[in-house]
Amino acid sequence: MLFVVDFDGTLSVCDTVDAMLEKFADPSWKQIEQEWLDGHITAVQCMQKQLQMVKADHLTLENFFRSIQLDATFLPFHKHVSQFAKVAVVSDGLDHAIHVAMKNAAFPELPIYANKLHFVPDGIDMSWPHKNPNCNAGNGVCKCKVAQDLSGGEKPVILIGDGKSDACLAKSADIVFAKGSLIKYCETNNIPHFKFQTFADVLTKVKTWPQKISHYTLSA
Ligand SMILES: [Mg+2]
Ligand SMILES: [Zn+2]
Repeated sequence: MLFVVDFDGTLSVCDTVDAMLEKFADPSWKQIEQEWLDGHITAVQCMQKQLQMVKADHLTLENFFRSIQLDATFLPFHKHVSQFAKVAVVSDGLDHAIHVAMKNAAFPELPIYANKLHFVPDGIDMSWPHKNPNCNAGNGVCKCKVAQDLSGGEKPVILIGDGKSDACLAKSADIVFAKGSLIKYCETNNIPHFKFQTFADVLTKVKTWPQKISHYTLSA
């Protein structure tokens, strides 16, 4: 059993990248965001343009990453599921920001798959170690590919997410926990899903599952 956990808006209370842009970039970052949401540019093109707009020094950004608020109910969730499942954080955000935020909150050390952040003078840049040209979603991190590699085909793969970057895996995951815009996506595409707000909700549901899940019947 593998839990693929999204970071921004799922493990973190707010979207880190949006919050960073709000604080350190020209307000026109929102127009670029809209172009991505409307499907005119890919997530990679969107982030490339947006990150160039970030104007802040290294120390200021590190302090910002430390201020990222996480969902504390993840801790009892992780304590329970780590007895029988693999858990990985898979995010189309920035790896270093996630590492710093999780370390600062004294969260367990989990495998993190995200875009690679590089500091440049007075700003940041990024590279894409988990990009997949074969996936139509055009994300920096292809969650369907990462999940496939991590699970080695073993089932079930369980996605916990909230947004557009979770869409490619929502199609192939065995079980989906959704909040935010991912709910609408699942409804539009007839993908069965459980709605959640925090990891406390996810834990409550997981505890109702039989020890060995052989059929992924959903009763949301
Ligand atoms: Mg998210
Ligand atoms: Zn994909």
